[in-house]
Amino acid sequence: MVRFVGVSLLYPTGTRALSDVNLHIRKGEFVFITGASGSGKSSLLHLVYRESEPTEGSVVVAGQDVAAMDRARVPFLRRQIGIVFQDFRLLPQLTVRENVGFALDVVGASRREKSRKVPVALELVGLTHKAESLPDQLSGGEQQRVCIARALVNSPPLLLADEPTGNLDPETSWDIVQLLSNIADRGTTVIVATHDKYIVDGMRKRVVALAQGVVVRDDVGGAYDYA
Ligand code: ADP
Ligand code: MG
Repeated sequence: MVRFVGVSLLYPTGTRALSDVNLHIRKGEFVFITGASGSGKSSLLHLVYRESEPTEGSVVVAGQDVAAMDRARVPFLRRQIGIVFQDFRLLPQLTVRENVGFALDVVGASRREKSRKVPVALELVGLTHKAESLPDQLSGGEQQRVCIARALVNSPPLLLADEPTGNLDPETSWDIVQLLSNIADRGTTVIVATHDKYIVDGMRKRVVALAQGVVVRDDVGGAYDYA
């Protein structure tokens, strides 16, 4: 689903964010990208959805060479990728149902498709009963669930989460990561960037650890280690 071959990323400022990263993530896998703040986790995810392009090497996502991709094709790439952020990014004036439906509006889905898919996504994250609430009427964990529903409503084969538990307490963080893991069990490839040692240690999933832009560990069923 995702392959990095000899990927380096040098920002115009001169910061080398990633150095010779080689990575192969299979369909349906659940992978943590760990490392201290500034180690290159977000930069790695940015390359997957063509928020930035590698300075060297190739990035292949769902069979497409992302680095070489024509700019016009980027929106089609992004339709295959759901993204969840630390800071939720929900539209405050829209209800939960409307926020999730908005992700379908932007890809031109019909009203009928929306009325079919939005309830399924809300059911998946356990928020059917909050469909008519506004984001500020929800807890942080509930808001993150809405974001996950929004990311998944198009049924993308790949879900990226960048510090999804960064604004949540430990117990809620654990619930969110369990939900992400259940999503991977249903066949979606899930990549979670986090520096949250508690959840990484508890999950025993594959851990790709970065230190100053270099992959220093790639362990199946690993625990957190700053290396
Ligand atoms: P992490 O997500 O692990 O905290 P990042 O990928 O955000 O790490 O950052 C990796 C390095 O790249 C850091 O040194 C950071 O300051 C730098 N960096 C990140 N984004 C940019 C950018 N847009 N321009 C220049 N440097 C950046
Ligand atoms: Mg980051």
